Amino acid sequence: MIIKLLDIEDSFALKGDLEVAKLSSAYRLASKVHYDLIIKKSKDTLSIKGSLNCIISLTCSRCLDEFPYMINAIVDFKMLPQNMAPHEPEIELKRDDMDIYYYEGNEVELEPIINEEIILNIPIKPLCKESCKGLCQVCGKNQNYEPCDCYKGINTILGEKLKEFLN
Ligand SMILES: [Zn+2]
Ligand SMILES: [Zn+2]
Repeated sequence: MIIKLLDIEDSFALKGDLEVAKLSSAYRLASKVHYDLIIKKSKDTLSIKGSLNCIISLTCSRCLDEFPYMINAIVDFKMLPQNMAPHEPEIELKRDDMDIYYYEGNEVELEPIINEEIILNIPIKPLCKESCKGLCQVCGKNQNYEPCDCYKGINTILGEKLKEFLN
């Protein structure tokens, strides 16, 4: 999806679905990416606000199951020409919280930015559900489907040892 800067008068709405097989290897898309954006241009600066919605497939950090995760991202960022990018690293640190991206030439490609915005909204430790019981550390079974007695066993052995010790 390429925006040609010369085509923009001052603002326009951009709405649709993106089929992005080529996006990122950091996640797997399980749906199209629905975007609903308002793009405003003032001189060389584009302000882009709106929302991105899609379903991605994530791996649960506890049980390692794949599960669908809904991304509902509110986006709000500016795009500036590449020549306005800071050269000094310390300047970059000072920039405010708003996301800023840079473009080169007269065209802006939106896919890489949509990709970034999706990645920003992926939880660091994804869970298939809050109550996920995870994998048994002993036998490796998924405790959500196959509860096992490993811990009971360990507890019993510990209990026996403790009894011996106390006696
Ligand atoms: Zn899980
Ligand atoms: Zn077990």
